[in-house]
Amino acid sequence: MIEYRNLRIALLGAGSVGAQVADQLIAHADELAARVGARLELVGVAVRDVDAPRTADIPRELLTADAEELILGADIVVELMGGLEPARTLILQALNSGADVITANKALLATHGPELFEAAEQVGAQLYYEAAVGGAIPIIRPLRDSLAGDRVTRILGIVNGTTNFILDRMDKHGETMEQALATATELGYAEADPTADVGGYDAAQKAGILASLAFHTLVPADAVYREGITEVTLDDVRAARKAGYVVKLLAICEKIVDRETLAEGVSARVYPALVPLEHPLAAVHGANNAVFVEAEAAGPLMFYGAGAGGIQTASAVLGDVVSAARRHVVGGPGVAESTHANLPVLPISAVTTRYQITLQVADQPGVLAAIATLFNEHGVSVETLEQSIVSTGDGHGATVPAATLVIGTHEASEADLAATVAALTTSTVVHSVTGVLRVEGL
Ligand code: NAP
Repeated sequence: MIEYRNLRIALLGAGSVGAQVADQLIAHADELAARVGARLELVGVAVRDVDAPRTADIPRELLTADAEELILGADIVVELMGGLEPARTLILQALNSGADVITANKALLATHGPELFEAAEQVGAQLYYEAAVGGAIPIIRPLRDSLAGDRVTRILGIVNGTTNFILDRMDKHGETMEQALATATELGYAEADPTADVGGYDAAQKAGILASLAFHTLVPADAVYREGITEVTLDDVRAARKAGYVVKLLAICEKIVDRETLAEGVSARVYPALVPLEHPLAAVHGANNAVFVEAEAAGPLMFYGAGAGGIQTASAVLGDVVSAARRHVVGGPGVAESTHANLPVLPISAVTTRYQITLQVADQPGVLAAIATLFNEHGVSVETLEQSIVSTGDGHGATVPAATLVIGTHEASEADLAATVAALTTSTVVHSVTGVLRVEGL
């Protein structure tokens, strides 16, 4: 039996996600009311153009171009407009008027998160953002609530569907980076300007959000080390598979100890990495996302599913709507973001990892010894070495014997590895360094 008053829901945006949220709020109104103990009344939907055709059947009288007016008097404001402004201003206005806010806007959280969380805390309102990372995948609430009694040590996430789709096409279909990007664009997995995805910016924003939650420390997106996938070649992907790996763009959030200061800190970084074929993340294909979490007591956990899509993302948004609504019904103060650990965010130079380096070298006696010495001199220890003979032109029509070397290292620091690669590129026995990729997930 429902006794609580209707809860007023203001929706900002009726695009891919917003239209689905509106649709479900209307279609499943009775069931949602039973779950919450109050009716969720969609009081309006703010859009730019009220006359534009809509995919969902949103009653015309609910549409408005006046978002500011709509949020006045709302109990829950759902921001699905995207972009920084006016989303930021509207969310601040909603929080300051005491409404709980739900957003899927990772770019906004990565840029203005602290300001928004502070505003929410000031008035005892809640800011929910389950859909901001991993689309439909529940990952924010598991990190914030389910694992709140444990200690997370590391997160490895495939959090960008576009880049996973591209790398998967290269691996499975032998497409080049350009071909795979064209396929992704054709099938709607990549935007007209794919920079945010292929450049790793989107994944870095999500890495900042995940690291902040997991390590109770504020990790802004600009503190996340970032490399995109644009330098990954089909040869890299093929060499990886031959060596028992697959290339994935990973968001890595890790608690590490700074070798110099011996202080514990947080590393948050995004780069294409080699993942062993037997690792659960290697089985994440197409545009899917997955977040692999390692916690001291729980051990390894994997969260997997659709990282985007209107209806899929709407599932996560509606979960937040129900949580916020239940809090209205039950009462009680909200929970503020936890940044109590306040660990330093360490630079990439503090990270140690394993590497796989691919070199084109002269095929002549003494080359292997010269290269092994060079690694030793820079404190990087070689674990595996595979050689295949190829022939290359000398630029004057003659062929010269050459070899491809794929060298796997033991754990080494970024600084030592960079010095080794610099020395390799100037070595007389090395024709070229064609690939340097980190190995993760061991
Ligand atoms: P979208 O399709 O571009 O829709 C944006 C909606 O917001 C449109 O209805 C638009 O109105 C409205 N809007 C934009 N600016 C406005 C303004 N100034 N005033 C009033 N209305 C405005 O976006 P989306 O794909 O649904 O994404 C929404 C959010 O969810 C973004 O933050 C995105 O990062 C996040 N997200 C999306 C996905 C996904 O799969 N799409 C997944 C995870 C997270 P008009 O319709 O009139 O243009």
